[in-house]
Amino acid sequence: MPPYKRKKYHHGDNTLSKKYKTKRKTKDLDEIDEDIKPQSAEKLLNQEVDYDLPGCAQFYCLHCARYFIDNYTLGEHFRTKVHKRRLKALEVEPFTQKDADIAAGHGNYVPPKRRKIETQSLKESEMEK
Ligand SMILES: [Zn+2]
Repeated sequence: MPPYKRKKYHHGDNTLSKKYKTKRKTKDLDEIDEDIKPQSAEKLLNQEVDYDLPGCAQFYCLHCARYFIDNYTLGEHFRTKVHKRRLKALEVEPFTQKDADIAAGHGNYVPPKRRKIETQSLKESEMEK
């Protein structure tokens, strides 16, 4: 009889409870879609100094809606799996009212377009410090 592995197959309701956790809740993808439009991106990347936020709100990842403590950690974050996964998720254009109308039989179905999402560039002036 082969030695059956009896342990570690049950994960409980981890995924469910994680799904509803709000402590690390960031913006949803459609909200971020608004943020990556040039005019709002500009505003988010050049925020005023806020001492209540990590890094005084000076190091912000647009695509993950997260603040970082310095330029180095922000750069590190750009190389992580979470960030790359997020860029991939943002590639597909968001679902709009137009898509809903098409699904309901008004107009022709157009598959969602893929677009190229680029990581924002690090602040050059901060690098020199
Ligand atoms: Zn990110």
